[in-house]
Parts: sequence; C-alpha cells; structure tokens
Amino acid sequence: MKFDAPQFQTEEAARAYIEALRWPNGVRVCGKCGAIGTDYPTKRTGRYRCGQKECRKDFTVMTGTVMEASHIKLNVWLMAFYLMASSKKGMSAHQLHRSLDITYKSAWFLAHRIRLAMANGDLMSGPIGGPGQIVEADETYWGKVEAPRSVRFDGRPYHKSGARGPANKRPIIALVERGGQARVFHVAEASKKTVAKLLEEHVDRRSRLHTDESNLYPAVGKSFAAHETVKHKAGEYARGDVHNNTAEGFFGVFKKGMSGVYQHCAEKHLHRYVGEFEFRFNHRVKLGWSDKARADAALVGAEGKRLTYRRTDGAEQHVQA
Ligand SMILES: [Zn+2]
Repeated sequence: MKFDAPQFQTEEAARAYIEALRWPNGVRVCGKCGAIGTDYPTKRTGRYRCGQKECRKDFTVMTGTVMEASHIKLNVWLMAFYLMASSKKGMSAHQLHRSLDITYKSAWFLAHRIRLAMANGDLMSGPIGGPGQIVEADETYWGKVEAPRSVRFDGRPYHKSGARGPANKRPIIALVERGGQARVFHVAEASKKTVAKLLEEHVDRRSRLHTDESNLYPAVGKSFAAHETVKHKAGEYARGDVHNNTAEGFFGVFKKGMSGVYQHCAEKHLHRYVGEFEFRFNHRVKLGWSDKARADAALVGAEGKRLTYRRTDGAEQHVQA
C-alpha cells in the first residue's frame, strides 16, 4: 500500500482534503446545529464559529462525524479509511496498529468507527430490483449466538438435541440485485416471517426472485413477478440465468474475511461487520468504484454518525480514540 498522495502526509493537507469532500462548494455546515454557511473562521486552523444565535459553537470538519473528539491525526484517519475501504476481506485492528504505527487500542476504536461510517451507507434509499431485474435472496449462518435459545420466537422448541442445524447460530440474510446493490442483515432468526418482511421492505415486487430450494421463500415468492429456484441438493447451481451465485459470492468473501481477518466477533457487533462487507460490495470495482472513490464514500458516510456505547447505568458514553 502506497500513501504518497499529499493528504496522507500532513494533518493540514488531510484537513483540506476532508473539507473539500464534506463541503464541496466551500459552504460549511455547522456540525453542532446543522446551520449552513453562517460561520466565520477563528484564529485556529480548521476551526469555525457558528453564526447562529442559538448555537455560536466552534466546529471543525470532524464535528458531528465518527472522527469527532479523536486525538488521532487526520492524515492517519485518512490512511485508515483507505486501508479498510480497499482491503477486500477487511483489516483487523492488529493490522491497522502495525500499518499505521498507532496503539492497538487506538486502532481498535478507529476500525469500529470506520465500520460505523460504512454501515447503512446505502447508495439508494428505495427498494432494490425492479421490472425485469433479478434479485437473489440467500441466508447463511455465522458464529454461535451467545445465549442459546431453547424455544423459537413463535414459542415452538428448537430441535431437541440442539447441536445440529442452525438453531444456535447467527443468521444473516442477503438480498442482492444482480449486477447491482446488496442489502444484508443480521437477524435474530431466519424465519419465513423475517424473510418476508425484509423482502417486502427492500425489494421491488416487480423483480424476479431467485433463491435456492429453502422453504423460507416459496410463500413470499408468490408476490414477486416470478420466483425461480435452483436445487442445490440435487447438484444444480444454475439453470439458464437462474442462480443465487452473487449472494453466495458475497457470503464467501464475508466468511473468508471473518475467519481470516476478524476471527472473533461479539454478536452485538456482527451487524457492523456485515455492514462493512456490504459497503465494499456496493462500491465494488465491477460497478466502477476505485479504491480512492470507495474510501471517499466512506468518509462522506462518516457524517452524522458518532459511535456511542451505552454504559450499564444507562448514560451514553462517547468513546475517545
Ligand atoms: Zn451551529
């Protein structure tokens, strides 16, 4: 990895780079109250004072983003964004710690915050698919749930000996438009009801739905333009253009990254990792995204998202990096 561009060299250049990304026409937005173009500069570089009577607070380009209140230099942030956006299988805190020469603890916070910036950075807000489009739906399981359930959400027991099957694993559902965007979810249970709800919310009904022979999909499949399946158990992986190889490909990269790079991941954080892989998939090279453009997209997604952890006493705690 080469970092010879100016924005990686100095904090000043990095600040100018991020300011140009966040405020492309030079009109600054107060990160405290959202007022647009009312501020004036202060004596400190990169610090502006909001001109709104009710606000009057100082802000920088980091205010109101996942980078807020961080002591890490902005050019180091930029390198971290770039590394995480361009590594196909992700980048662990250990790797960031070594590559960027920052403490492991700082690297860990950086990684989580960048993941947050990537998560939910959907390019489109409406449903995926549409007339003539194919949407693949598939499910996989990753890791064990931390508190194994003995009864299902509908009150029926899981299979008795529990050890087999997906009963105590964490389900992940992927909805992928062929040649387009994916929406991927860590759900509490992969049930017909959950799958139906996700498909209703995120996929245009005029799409052709492609799945394997899982019994999760036939009922909801009826409401789509077509529901076509491949029979994996019978050794069939594609029939004409009917397959769910795109969704399986996504899960393949996800699992390789999770087992090779991240290894352990608490269940409460799983959705963030899912979001990270979804982000890279939705900004993939095949759709015309370069490493630089992908990192920039994550940086723009850093806006309006501060990672907070709830303390056990219920108060919110901002985590300092
Ligand atoms: Zn303000």
